[in-house]
Amino acid sequence: MLTPDYYYVIVGGGMAGLQLASRIHDDVFFRGKKIAIIEPDDKTKNDKTWCFWEKGEGSWDHIITKTWEKGKFISSEINKDLDLAPYSYKMLRSIDFYEHVKSNLEASADIVFIKDEIISIDEVTRTAKGKEKDYTATHFFDSRPPEDYKKTENSTLIYQHFKGWYIKTEEDLFDPETFTMMDYRINYKDSASFTYVLPISANEALVEFTFFTPFLTNDTTYDKYLNRYLREILKTTSYEIIEEEIGMIPMTDYPFHKKSTAKVTKIGTAGGWVKASSGYSFKNTERKIDLLIQNIKSSRMPSKDLFSKKYQKYDAIFLEVLKNRNDLGESLFTKFYTKNSIQDIFRFLDEETSFSEDIKIMFSLYHPEFLKAFFKKL
Ligand SMILES: Cc1cc2nc3c(=O)[nH]c(=O)nc-3n(C[C@H](O)[C@H](O)[C@H](O)COP(=O)(O)OP(=O)(O)OC[C@H]3O[C@@H](n4cnc5c(N)ncnc54)[C@H](O)[C@@H]3O)c2cc1C
Repeated sequence: MLTPDYYYVIVGGGMAGLQLASRIHDDVFFRGKKIAIIEPDDKTKNDKTWCFWEKGEGSWDHIITKTWEKGKFISSEINKDLDLAPYSYKMLRSIDFYEHVKSNLEASADIVFIKDEIISIDEVTRTAKGKEKDYTATHFFDSRPPEDYKKTENSTLIYQHFKGWYIKTEEDLFDPETFTMMDYRINYKDSASFTYVLPISANEALVEFTFFTPFLTNDTTYDKYLNRYLREILKTTSYEIIEEEIGMIPMTDYPFHKKSTAKVTKIGTAGGWVKASSGYSFKNTERKIDLLIQNIKSSRMPSKDLFSKKYQKYDAIFLEVLKNRNDLGESLFTKFYTKNSIQDIFRFLDEETSFSEDIKIMFSLYHPEFLKAFFKKL
């Protein structure tokens, strides 16, 4: 093969592509290696708001919009305060992330941004075929999800889908120090659906109506439930919608990890880096990139051992229960948040718990449906 155009080609300059490029850029190990980030979109809009928890200081603190030390979980029967210390919950607007990372990387002599859309990658010739041009590289990091992940014969798929209104209210309605992780008081037809509230100030908040369901819905439904939450729970009709956010995150045990090869590493959602049972992926991406970089430095396949089988199994069981008995959503999450400390919950979702801690958490959720799901996913 002739000398390739690039050492690495990163297909997709979204969250995972830019986090990866950023880490490569900061590591002297990769100095001098030419990298192309190929992305069709300008990334000039705030298309997502990422939230995540972490202990103490983190890599993105300088561009964070808001941090909370306290949260709430609210069901139709209980209202639980969540004292997060030593964790905090952080909000990062995607536009701030894109602008910050891009301005850093554009100054690098090793990294180029290319506006194009990749149609296919040929591993034999190590060529990514773009709509504009072809690009050769020694290795590709690819954010495009495999086309068949929605075919669910062998995997379970539900959708986390939501619409959010960033509102400004006339009166002061919010405690800006406390966010609401889940509020089940307004619920769509016995489904796993709830409202998520991220207050930025006493009169500004992102309010999202969210579903974890096997079905998708339409704009009118989100609007109806957002309206109800504002009217019936927040008791306001005087607000202005400053921004809207709409999104869908696949929650699935589809084996994304099997799609990576020695030449093409699937990253982000396409790599299975979205935690299947929660839909969170921002911090997960940081952790997967750590492992991936260690693999590269140790001359292993970049995608080697990025996943824990134990947690994949737990996620698969949980998804199967939610898919078959979506009406259990409120009671399952109520048990999860009331019978476990928030610190244990974060450690469990971060895949840091011991087996005996896992058992305790699993028992706290117990419902016969778990046994059925357990045997199905064995
Ligand atoms: C609205 C929304 C809110 C979310 N909020 C949170 C949150 O609060 N916390 C959290 O942890 N996770 C959250 N997520 C989940 C997850 O973090 C995001 O989906 C995240 O953007 C996934 O990163 P990614 O790089 O896989 O995908 P993206 O960020 O979507 O990046 C993929 C990129 O690939 C590009 N691309 C696609 N096809 C091609 C092609 N053929 N050629 C070249 N480029 C291509 C796309 O244009 C895109 O820029 C949210 C998701 C959504 C949709």
